[in-house]
Amino acid sequence: MNYRIAAIPGDGIGVDVSVEARKVLDRAAELNGFGLEWTEFDWSCERYTSTGTMMPADGVEQLAAFDGIFLGAVGFPGVPDHVSLWGLLIPLRRAFAQYVNLRPVRLLPGTTSALAGRSADELEMVIVRENSEGEYSQLGGRHNAGRPDEFVLQESVFTRVGVERIIRYAFDLARTRTGRVCSATKSNGLIHSMPFWDEVFAEIAAEYPDVHSEQCHVDALAARMVQQPDRLDVVVASNLFGDILSDLAAAVTGGLGMAPSGNINPPGEFPSMFEAVHGSAPDIAGQGIANPVAQVLAGAMMLDHLGETAAANAVRAAVERVLAEGRVATPDLGGKSTTAELGTAIADALS
Ligand code: ATP
Ligand code: MG
Repeated sequence: MNYRIAAIPGDGIGVDVSVEARKVLDRAAELNGFGLEWTEFDWSCERYTSTGTMMPADGVEQLAAFDGIFLGAVGFPGVPDHVSLWGLLIPLRRAFAQYVNLRPVRLLPGTTSALAGRSADELEMVIVRENSEGEYSQLGGRHNAGRPDEFVLQESVFTRVGVERIIRYAFDLARTRTGRVCSATKSNGLIHSMPFWDEVFAEIAAEYPDVHSEQCHVDALAARMVQQPDRLDVVVASNLFGDILSDLAAAVTGGLGMAPSGNINPPGEFPSMFEAVHGSAPDIAGQGIANPVAQVLAGAMMLDHLGETAAANAVRAAVERVLAEGRVATPDLGGKSTTAELGTAIADALS
């Protein structure tokens, strides 16, 4: 069995960590009796600086037939974030109906949490972020520019279909984990969208009597993630809140270098896309010191999604073994190893 994967290393450390992650994934595939057939695309912010576009006009069509998309990171000094977002990430997420952004975090052995005194089994959760609508909309605009009564409108869009499917995904996921879901909203401040979300959440919760559900204000939940993270498992949130909470969750575990992310099309009609939570980190790009673990774990999520559970588990176990041993560690982990040394150590730990 061969899977066809579109690799988009992107910019900065996206390129550095993708090479290492592919090394690990290829080894895992070989050991588990399947193949990964990579096709590389140079779509990036760097490409944008020379051609004016992040990807060709038919970029979406070019990717449609792949089994998965493995993305490094996009971002380049001087290129504003909205270019990479609206020129590549959002068009792909929307065209391929990747309406779930799944961000599992876990405190791995041998790493230190920003939260002193926590152990690995107390710090494991998954943020289910709505990835297709909500606050990140293009609706709105600037009015009365330059006048004293100037104002700006930024609208959010929450559809019943969109809210129901993400919440249902969270409940289904909870059934495979600890059976707990927490929904993050802010109904006292956002008085139209969030009460609607709460209402849909309550309706769907009633369909899952076996799952423990609760609703939280996002601000209180942020505090709880720091003070009592052990009482959380699946956290479901809108596009904006999920974005913020997943960076927070990554920070209280091993930091950005450890956090993977999947942009998932649950029905599997279109390819899903896997990437690290971190960006292109221009400050350390090309120096060979970026931590490849987040990208490797994103690869494990991709293997899970392809149904290659044994290989996915083997990759995660290899990461844990290498980190627990602590002999090979990049500078962010307190070591002196290079990106390639850590990648190789993880690949070697597989066999
Ligand atoms: P972008 O604009 O592409 O998001 P950024 O400058 O915001 O890039 P991030 O990648 O989001 O950078 O990360 C912020 C900082 O965290 C980086 O500047 C880097 O120092 C550190 N960092 C992020 N990822 C890693 C990693 N994999 N290994 C080591 N350090 C990392
Ligand atoms: Mg960033």
